[in-house]
Amino acid sequence: MKTRHAKVHFNEQGTPIADDFDDVYFSNDSGIDETLHVFIAGNDLPQRWLEHNQKHFVIAETGLGTGLNCLVAMQAFAHFRQQNPTHVLKQLFILTTEMFPLTREDLKQALARFEPLSEAAGLLAEQYPVNLDGCHRLCFDRYSTVLDIWLGDVHSLLGQWHCPADGLVDAWFLDGFAPSKNPQMWTAALFSQMARLTRTGGTLATFTVAGVVKRGLREAGFTISKRPGFGRKRDMLSGVYLHDKHSDSKAFPIENPYYRYTQSALQPTQQVAIVGGGLAGATMALALTRRGLNVTLITPKAELADGASGNPQGGFYPQLHAQPSRPSNIQAHSFLFARRYYQEILDQGATFAHDWCGVLLLDFNANVAARHQALLHNGAWPSELISGVSQTQASTIAGLPVPTGALYCKSGGWLSPPELVQAMVTLASREGRLTVMHDTRVTAISQANEHEQTGRANHVTLTTNKGVIQVDHAILCTGADSHHLGLERFLPLRAVRGQVESIKSTGALRSLQTVLCHKGYLTPAWHGRHAMGSTYVKGDTDTAVRPSESTQNQQLHQLTLAHADWHHLLRSDGTARAAIRLGLPDHLPAAGALPLPLDDCARWHALSKGVGLSKVPKPPAQAVHVLTGLGSRGLTTAPLMAEILASQLCGEPLPMANELLNSVNPQRFVVRQCIRSESSA
Ligand code: SAM
Repeated sequence: MKTRHAKVHFNEQGTPIADDFDDVYFSNDSGIDETLHVFIAGNDLPQRWLEHNQKHFVIAETGLGTGLNCLVAMQAFAHFRQQNPTHVLKQLFILTTEMFPLTREDLKQALARFEPLSEAAGLLAEQYPVNLDGCHRLCFDRYSTVLDIWLGDVHSLLGQWHCPADGLVDAWFLDGFAPSKNPQMWTAALFSQMARLTRTGGTLATFTVAGVVKRGLREAGFTISKRPGFGRKRDMLSGVYLHDKHSDSKAFPIENPYYRYTQSALQPTQQVAIVGGGLAGATMALALTRRGLNVTLITPKAELADGASGNPQGGFYPQLHAQPSRPSNIQAHSFLFARRYYQEILDQGATFAHDWCGVLLLDFNANVAARHQALLHNGAWPSELISGVSQTQASTIAGLPVPTGALYCKSGGWLSPPELVQAMVTLASREGRLTVMHDTRVTAISQANEHEQTGRANHVTLTTNKGVIQVDHAILCTGADSHHLGLERFLPLRAVRGQVESIKSTGALRSLQTVLCHKGYLTPAWHGRHAMGSTYVKGDTDTAVRPSESTQNQQLHQLTLAHADWHHLLRSDGTARAAIRLGLPDHLPAAGALPLPLDDCARWHALSKGVGLSKVPKPPAQAVHVLTGLGSRGLTTAPLMAEILASQLCGEPLPMANELLNSVNPQRFVVRQCIRSESSA
C-alpha cells in the first residue's frame, strides 16, 4: 500500500506547515533547540546513554515529519560516541512512524535552514524512502545509527513491531500534531502499544500536556511529570515506565508464539560459523562482522560463489503482483533495502561489476500485458519503484527497438554475483573478525543445548574434512548443497536446475542498455557478452551444460522477441553455465532458527487446539539457523534476509512487520502442516 504524501506550505520563516492539520512541524523560533529541549533532555539523554549497559539503545518516535528530531538525536549520539569511544553502548536505533510522508523536495526544503545538520540531512534525503507502507531501514555513520522509517498509520504499525520479552524501546519521542488538531493519533490504543513496547525504566517525552494525553499515558502504566516547556510553551511532559516487563506478559500476550523461539542475544565474544560461500553466506558474514562478531565462513570449494551465485551477471528487480500481497511486499522491501545496501557498500569501497541501468518487464503476451495494466491501474506500488512505459519509450530506454510496452523498474539493473560475493567478503574481512575456510566440507552438525542444566551457552559442533569445529552458533547458507546436511528433513526444499547462455554481443545487440525480461531475461553486454537465460528444470541437480537447453534458451528468446528485427542475433554458441537454485514451495526465502523436523509436529498440536499459552511447550533454544530458499532471487532478497537474521540473533529491532516476518520464518511449514493435520483429524 502507498500512503499519501503530506500537503505542506512554508511560512515566512521557512517553517513547514501541514495543510490538512493546520499545524507546524517544528517551532518557528528554533527547531533544533526545541528538539534538544523537549525530546533529548526530556528523555534525559545523553545521561541515560552514559548509564546504559547494553550495546544498543532504541528511540521510537511517532511522526517522522521532516526528520529533524531524528537528525538531532543522531548528532547527539555521534557526539556521545566521540566522547566515550570505549563505552559499551555502540549503536543507536531510531524507529519512527509516518502516515503522511513529506516529498523528498519538501523534506530538503524544510531541513535546508539547519546549517549544523546539513551533512546528515543530505544523507537522509539521499536514502529517503519511496512512498510504500512498511519498514525502510536506513543506515548511517558506518552502521552506528540505524533509522527504521515505518510508513503507515502508527496504530497499525506498532502492533507489527516485534517486541522481545524485556521490551524494545528505551525512549519515546511522542511527537505528532497537537492533540486538538490530530485527535485520531493520541488514543488509548497508542498509549497501550507504547506500554507493550517499552522496556522497564524506558522513558517518554512530549511537547503537549493535554488532559487526554496525561490521562491516557497514566492509564497505560506510565508515571508522568510536568517539566518546563520550550519557548512560549509553559509545560511539557516526561514519563517513565516502571512496571516489571515479565509481569506484563499477561497483559500483552505474544502473538503466534510458535513463530518465536527463546534466544539470548549473541555477544561480541561469541563465535559464529557460516556454512556456504554464496550470496547468502557472504551477506550474512557482512551483517555479523559489522556487528562486531567473530565469524568463520566455511565453503566447500577453493572459490567462493561456485553455486547459484556464480553466474557472471544477474538481473536485479522485484517481482510484484498487481495487488500488494505479502510475497510482493517482501519482494518490494527486499529490493529497496538491497538497492540502498549495494550503494552503501560501494560507498565503503567495495568493487563489483554492476549497472543500475533499469529493467524492462515486457508486455510479451496479452495475459501479461493485462496483468501489467492491472498492476499500474491498482496504483499499489509507487512509480519510483515501477511504472508503465509505451513501446516507443521502452525502445528509447533499451537503446534498441523492443516489440512491446513494458513495466519499467528504473532503479533495477544487473550485478555480477560472484564479484559481489567476493566484495562483501573482502569488506567483512576488513575488521579482522572474519576467517574464510576454503575447501572445507561440513559433513555433520550437532548441537549441545546445555544452557539450562549447566548455565553454559549452547554450542554447535561441525564435523568437516579438515577436522572438528566448535562454535556458539551456526548459520546454514548451503543453497543446493543443503541435502548433504539433510536439511530437507526440516524444510520442503526444492532444487531447480537453470542454464544461462553467455552470448556474443554483435550488431544492434551492442546497443542494449537495460535488462530485458519476458519469460527469460537478457542483460546488456559485459566483457562483450550478454547473459541470456534461463531454463528451469525442477528436481534436476545435474550442473553439466546441455546443448538441448542452449537451443531451448535461444528459441525462447527468438520467439518472444520475434517482432524485434534484431532477434536473429540472439544466438547461443554453447557457452553457458548451469547451476541449481534452491527454493521453497511458497517462493519465499527462509531466514531464522532451524525449525523442528517436518515430521515432528507434536509440539505444535496443542496450539492448533487452542490450548492456553502457558501450556504450550516453548521451542527449544536454537543455536543452528538457516538462510536459504533464495531461489533465483538472491540478489533481491539476500541483504534484507541477512539483516533480519542478524538483528534477531543480536536482539535488535527487526526491520520488518511481524506478519511478513512470519512469512519468511523457517517454522512456517511445520506450523502449516500441524494446522492442516489438525483440521483434517
Ligand atoms: N518529528 C517531526 C520532525 O522532526 O519534523 C515533526 C512531527 S509533526 C509535528 C507530526 C507528524 O506526525 C507529521 O509528519 C504527521 O504526518 C505524523 N502523523 C500524524 N498522524 C499520524 C499517524 N496516525 N501515524 C503516523 N504518523 C502520523
